[in-house]
Amino acid sequence: MKEEKLSVNENILKLTSLIGGKPVSSGKQLAVTSPYDGRLVGTVEMAGLSDTLAAIDTALKGGRVLTRYERYSVLDKARTLLLERKEEFAQVITAESGLCITEARYEIGRAHDVLLFASMECLKDDGQVFSCDISPSGKQRKIFSLREPLKLAVAITPFNHPLNQVAHKIAPALAAGTPVILKPSEKTPLTAIRFVELLYEAGLPTYMLSVLLGDTKNVAEALVQAPEVDLVSFTGSVAVGKRIAQTAGYKKVILELGGNDPLIVLEDANLDLAVQLAAEGAFRNSGQRCTAVKRILVHENIAEEFTKRFVEKAKEYTCGDPADPKTKVGTVIDEQSAKYLEDVVDKAVSRGAKVLLGGKRTGALLEPTVIVDVPRDAQMVVQESFGPLAPILTFKDIDDAIALSNSTAFGLSSGVVTNNMEHAIRFVKELKVGTVNINEVPGYRIENSPFGGIKDSGLGIKEGVIEAIKCFTYVKTFSMPW
Ligand code: NAP
Repeated sequence: MKEEKLSVNENILKLTSLIGGKPVSSGKQLAVTSPYDGRLVGTVEMAGLSDTLAAIDTALKGGRVLTRYERYSVLDKARTLLLERKEEFAQVITAESGLCITEARYEIGRAHDVLLFASMECLKDDGQVFSCDISPSGKQRKIFSLREPLKLAVAITPFNHPLNQVAHKIAPALAAGTPVILKPSEKTPLTAIRFVELLYEAGLPTYMLSVLLGDTKNVAEALVQAPEVDLVSFTGSVAVGKRIAQTAGYKKVILELGGNDPLIVLEDANLDLAVQLAAEGAFRNSGQRCTAVKRILVHENIAEEFTKRFVEKAKEYTCGDPADPKTKVGTVIDEQSAKYLEDVVDKAVSRGAKVLLGGKRTGALLEPTVIVDVPRDAQMVVQESFGPLAPILTFKDIDDAIALSNSTAFGLSSGVVTNNMEHAIRFVKELKVGTVNINEVPGYRIENSPFGGIKDSGLGIKEGVIEAIKCFTYVKTFSMPW
C-alpha cells in the first residue's frame, strides 16, 4: 500500500493491481496519461491470467468473516478517510479523466454518501417473517428469510465516474459480506486502486477485495466466464454489456448500460428552470454521464424563446484546463472520443442541422455545443453521444413528445419540465424508462434510491445501495412450527 500523499501535478503515481492486498509483479505496466495535456499521470502494474486465477482463489479461500457491526465500521471508517483525503482523490480523478476539478470534488461527495448509506444498511435487519396460518389451507408455522453473502462477485466499471461507479459496486458488496474482484476502466484505474487501498486501511480483510488491470481476455473476460463467480455487476457500454450477457454463463448478471435521456420541456414549463436543467444535464461531467441530457425536446410554441435563453446559459459553461477551478467543462475521456463527437455534429450539419454555439475541438476538449434543426433520425438523436452535445428538437403535442422520447433503443431515465400535474402523470406512466424526474434532470437521484434502466439501458434490475446489497446476496428461508 502506498503511503505518499498525492500530488499528481508533480508526482507520477506508481500503483499496482492488488490480489487480496498483495501487489502483482508481471513486469507489464499500463501508462495513464492526462486527456488534457497528455502528461504521464501514473502507471499500473498489470495482471495476467495467472493473477486473475490467484485473485479468484484468494477470495474463495476467505478469511475472517466480519460481523454486521464490523462491516459497518469498515465502511464508516472509509467514509471518514475519504473526507480527509477529498482533495487528493479529486486531483487524481481530474488528472486521469480530464473531468474538471469541481466535478471531481462533487464526485467525492457522492461516493461519501454511497459509503454512508451502505454502512447504515449493515446495521439493519434484512430478514422477513411469514406467518403460515393466513389462509384456509394454512397452518401454525412461520417462514423466516435471511440473506447470505455470495461466495464471489466481479465488478466491472466504466471511466466516466472513476470513483463513484466503483463505490456503487464495492460498498454494497462489502455491506452484504460478499468478496469482490474489481476490474476498473483502464482509462481511470488510479482512483479505483487508491479507493481499494483506502478500504484496506479502513480495516477491510484483504481477501474481501482485489483489483485487477490487464488485457481484456486475461482479466475481464476470464472473470466474467469463471464458473466460481456468482455475480457479474457491470456498468458500461451496450456493446460490452450484451457481450457479457452472452458469455457469462450460469451466474447472476447486473447490466447498467448506456442512455440517451431526454429533457422534455412542455409549453407551460417554467422556462428559467428548463434552461437551467437543460444546461446542467447536458454539460455537467463533460456530458459523460449515463443519465446526461442527450436530447432536449421542446414544445414548438416555446422553442424559439427557450433556444435563445439556452444559448445564453450555455455560454456560462466555460471549457478548458480541468485543474482550473473556474473551468466548468473539462475534456472528454480522450481525443478519439472528442473526434467521434465532432464527426457526429458534422454529420447532423450535413443533413441541415445548425450549430448555434460551440462545436470547436482542441485535442480532447470539446466546447459545449448547442445544435438545432436536428433531423429526428440523426446519429446524435438515435445513438448515445457521450459528451457535451445539446441537440434541441421540437414536438407538437404530448403524444408526439412521448413517441419521440420513446423512439430510441435506450430506456434509462428522463426529465420533464411542466407545472401541469395531469401531463406529468402521463409522462410518468408512458415513458419507457427506468426513471422519470419531474422538474429535475434525468440524473437526479440519491445514492440509495433504486436506479437502473430498461431496453438497451439494462435488464431492469436496479442498483442504488439498497437494491444492490440485495443483488449481492442470496435469500435463504427456513421454517419452524410456531
Ligand atoms: P465500456 O467501454 O463498455 O467499458 C466498461 C468496462 O468494461 C471497462 O472496465 C472495460 O475495460 C470493460 N470491458 C471492455 N471489454 C470488456 C469485455 N469484453 N468483457 C468484460 N469487460 C470489458 O464503457 P466506457 O466507455 O468505459 O463507459 C461509458 C459507457 O458506460 C456509456 O455507454 C455510459 O452510458 C455507460 N454508463 C452507464 C451507466 C449506468 O448506470 N447505466 C453509468 C455510467 C456509464 P477496459 O477499460 O479495460 O476496456
